[in-house]
Amino acid sequence: MQEITQIYIDGRFVEPHGTELFDLHNPTTGEVFGRVRLGDAHDTKAAIAAAKRAFPAWSRSTKAERIALLRRLHEAMEARKQVLRDAIILEYGAPASRATWMAAHASNSFMDAARALESFDLTQRIGNADVIMEAIGVVGLITPWNSNAGFICNKLAYALAAGCTAVIKPSEMSATQTQIVLEALHDAGVQPGLFNLVNGRGDVVGAEITASPDVSKISFTGSTAVGKSILRAAADTLKRVTLELGGKSPTIILDDADFATAIPLALEAGFANSGQACVAGTRILVPGSRLADAIAAIQVSFGKIKAGNPSDATTTIGPMVSQTQYERVQGYIRLGIESGATLVAGGQGHPEGLGGYFVKPTVFAHVTNDMTIAREEVFGPVLCLLTYEDEAEAIAIANDTPYGLQAYVISSNPDRAKVVANQIVAGRVVINGAPHDPSVPFGGFKQSGIGREYGVFGLQAYVEPKAVLGTAAA
Ligand code: NAD
Repeated sequence: MQEITQIYIDGRFVEPHGTELFDLHNPTTGEVFGRVRLGDAHDTKAAIAAAKRAFPAWSRSTKAERIALLRRLHEAMEARKQVLRDAIILEYGAPASRATWMAAHASNSFMDAARALESFDLTQRIGNADVIMEAIGVVGLITPWNSNAGFICNKLAYALAAGCTAVIKPSEMSATQTQIVLEALHDAGVQPGLFNLVNGRGDVVGAEITASPDVSKISFTGSTAVGKSILRAAADTLKRVTLELGGKSPTIILDDADFATAIPLALEAGFANSGQACVAGTRILVPGSRLADAIAAIQVSFGKIKAGNPSDATTTIGPMVSQTQYERVQGYIRLGIESGATLVAGGQGHPEGLGGYFVKPTVFAHVTNDMTIAREEVFGPVLCLLTYEDEAEAIAIANDTPYGLQAYVISSNPDRAKVVANQIVAGRVVINGAPHDPSVPFGGFKQSGIGREYGVFGLQAYVEPKAVLGTAAA
């Protein structure tokens, strides 16, 4: 039984004032494997105070000092990559290949932020003024369970690069990953107070951070519902916010695409992270005249989709993170059936021979874009196949959603794909499975969020420009 009993304040691991214990489940089996002791409002205030004390010195640090720190944090994370990967598999059920990517992404964040800072002018000369990119202040970083270590590292790396100090509120369901990240960052030798971390509940620790007048900004990744409540609460102190929220991403397969490659790409985008990804391509759009081909190609591709033990190298789909999430996804599959969509693959219940929180990878055909399964974020491996008559209709369906995080276009003609991509309202459009690039901005239009992360745009999110006029050389 793993016990995580400490939080991190002012450079030290300390017992929290809060006493609530929260069970950690292995989603592959449903068994409890550990417990985390949660902090409370008192702990959160102490963490904010420590970050506030550390801010003046760190905000005056030089670019070179910040880059040196980011490099040390990267090295410390590199040394823990394997153990972090194993924790992600145990606690979250991510398939091994995905968990390996997640651990590398977490570690690489520090170098990505260092590179962004290298190319960023902290003082710019505009008109007769020096425009100084000042660190925004103490920032609150709130993360979800679906890539907790990666989000902690990415947000923290850019916050520190900008000269901010931080209070982190990770997902309480991800305490094992959090602990490994914390130990790595502590071992790198960080000045006390630069970052502080309180495990705890959203409506306790998260709410305290959001309300605090000593916190200047919140960077939040999570559900659209909680994002909206944070935005409302942040209004009282006029906090800056970056919100990375939900999605219902379309994958438009153009009529010139070869389905033998297009359908596997579309399924990969849809089932990314076992469907528990904000960027999952959950609405697959195909030409109406090729629906039968698409269904046949999906059935063939399902030969390579395997739900199973996430430690097994051949597994492509792991379990849902929790019993609650399992039931939620089952509810959406039931709703799809009731609304008249037809099952191409999957359905209700556990996949054969698997227990825990596994759901069957599922694809519905004959879905219309007004059905609940096409509108709401399921956050599980449940995909909708929709049809369109022409390109204009494909674009209209793709954009007919409250979300706008990511979209995918697949075509044998990249120029044509680009014309379509330019008409989609989303923060990122991926053509023909292009890989993630950490130097380009990421974030949502519409109800998928506010602001951008990654690269120079990610860095800008943690600075306030200050203009000092009358500084022109005589
Ligand atoms: P969630 O919104 O339930 O929780 C996210 C975090 O917010 C957790 O740490 C939680 O404890 C905290 N929280 C809850 N209530 C709070 C409150 N009142 N004040 C402050 N903090 C509070 O999300 P989740 O279920 O952990 O994660 C899944 C969601 O995250 C999905 O909707 C997914 O689309 C979204 N997500 C978005 C992105 C993106 O980059 N756009 C990436 C990953 C996940």
